Amino acid sequence: MTAETSTHAYPVTARNRVKRLHERGSYDRDSVYAILDAAMLCHVAYVIDGQPYATPTLFWRKGDTLYWHGSSASRMLRHLKAGTPACLTVAHLDGLVLARSGFNHSANYRSAMCFGTARLVEDPEEKIEAMRDVIDRFYPGRSALLRPITTQEAKATTIIAMQIEEAAAKVRAKGVGDDEEDFALPIWAGVIPVTTMLGTAETCHRLVEGVEKPETLSIFPVGGKLDTALLTGQRIYEGG
Ligand SMILES: Cc1cc2nc3c(=O)[nH]c(=O)nc-3n(C[C@H](O)[C@H](O)[C@H](O)COP(=O)(O)OP(=O)(O)OC[C@H]3O[C@@H](n4cnc5c(N)ncnc54)[C@H](O)[C@@H]3O)c2cc1C
Repeated sequence: MTAETSTHAYPVTARNRVKRLHERGSYDRDSVYAILDAAMLCHVAYVIDGQPYATPTLFWRKGDTLYWHGSSASRMLRHLKAGTPACLTVAHLDGLVLARSGFNHSANYRSAMCFGTARLVEDPEEKIEAMRDVIDRFYPGRSALLRPITTQEAKATTIIAMQIEEAAAKVRAKGVGDDEEDFALPIWAGVIPVTTMLGTAETCHRLVEGVEKPETLSIFPVGGKLDTALLTGQRIYEGG
């Protein structure tokens, strides 16, 4: 069974079929989820009156539904709640690929493009759950430690959900792709890996005396990789 015919794969249509360097593309949910779940930042693209916009924002995934949120005053959120087609993308830059010609310079990356129709989360229970999820998905168990969400905060927040209708993952994870004759040239070439690392937490200077950092935040170790921490967080979120 190929990725395209697997029941665990997204349908492949004119919208999501990877044409350029198609061998780097895949459509199975596991590949797409692995890229989404290693990120908290995405770009949501949509068109208002013929003008394209691509807004960077935080997002999270629950099954096949992507969520993002913001102020009820946000133009993006006001527009998307009308049920507009949207495209959410995530890209991880994993390496700088330096070749022996400018043309063959490249990048190692993992990226995903997800297509669907954005909807406003109107059901009060789904909305409150989503407001907790945006915390718990990233910081396991944290919403239970916080003061409750107020009615005013819920009113000021818009949550958008988008079921993934179609998606594609595209990955480059290899060395230098020079032309055969260029390998003989006396020019340095190679891959410089790129990672987003976690630093030391800077404790709030107004912390109540005796308050300790919760053990659950150990998924963010100093020197650890952000995407590893986020994948761990998603596993805990899905299991909880
Ligand atoms: C960090 C990074 C750096 C890149 N640098 C370059 C660059 O310098 N030049 C360049 O040409 N390209 C670059 N790419 C690849 C780029 O994202 C596109 O895949 C490529 O430009 C082909 O675009 P297209 O519209 O012709 O793709 P098409 O193959 O025509 O796109 C058709 C469909 O394939 C899927 N698809 C296409 N690209 C992606 C993707 N990246 N991730 C997931 N699904 C995808 C989508 O469903 C899309 O609708 C880079 C990607 C990343 C993540």
